[in-house]
Amino acid sequence: MTVRMRATRSHTGNRRSHHGLIAPRLSTCADCGEMHIRHHICNNCGKYRGRTIIDMAAQIEKKEKKAKAKRAALGASPGREEKSEQKEEDTTLKEVSKRPLDATDLSKK
Ligand SMILES: [Zn+2]
Repeated sequence: MTVRMRATRSHTGNRRSHHGLIAPRLSTCADCGEMHIRHHICNNCGKYRGRTIIDMAAQIEKKEKKAKAKRAALGASPGREEKSEQKEEDTTLKEVSKRPLDATDLSKK
């Protein structure tokens, strides 16, 4: 098989002219003032153009319930008491770091 044609600098440049990255278009949320992708719901309050799409308080409750169930399951499993205790500490640390999305904080805003 023969090489059909040499890819010139011009050809390479033309091909690569479409490889540029575009920064996402961001706008501020009218309800909470947080930045969000344009024409997308706000990740902070779950609203789109004033309408509530996702009930973020309910989502947080759901996540906490799931985490509790997971911890209970880990605690119930036999033979791994020490390891499960360490994991519990990790989850509590994560909950503290997720503080800004707390239901009480949302109601304040
Ligand atoms: Zn928002």
